[in-house]
Amino acid sequence: MKSNTQPYCRWCGKPLRKDTEWHYRGADRANKANRLHSKADCQRQVNQKVISVKYHQDYDDWRGPSHGEPVGERYVYSFSTWDGESYEAADYTGFFCSNLCAFRLGVSAARDHHLAGPDYNERIKAINAKKNDAA
Ligand SMILES: [Zn+2]
Repeated sequence: MKSNTQPYCRWCGKPLRKDTEWHYRGADRANKANRLHSKADCQRQVNQKVISVKYHQDYDDWRGPSHGEPVGERYVYSFSTWDGESYEAADYTGFFCSNLCAFRLGVSAARDHHLAGPDYNERIKAINAKKNDAA
């Protein structure tokens, strides 16, 4: 869903997550000239706002940072961008952060506020009309 302002979950109040797109650069050892090294480098590649960056670093021991020393420069493995208006909503309506929150609000609406859907209300009306006709 799209919104110009930060939407919040209608049940728990958490901000809905930005709907971002990941761009993978990969750990391309052969193509050193095309490597990116910072968030600013990433931002120059795209029109959308860069939100987060994941880096790659080689080590002199294949087991990584706990066993070896870094070799060469750290570079961008992937980065995410955001269009400035799209948010992730678990229920696709933009109201809830999760289906569990949608469920909880539904239960609360029925139990605490006696709300019901139109089909339920029509059925109860029909049942009551039959009772009145019989009386
Ligand atoms: Zn929620």
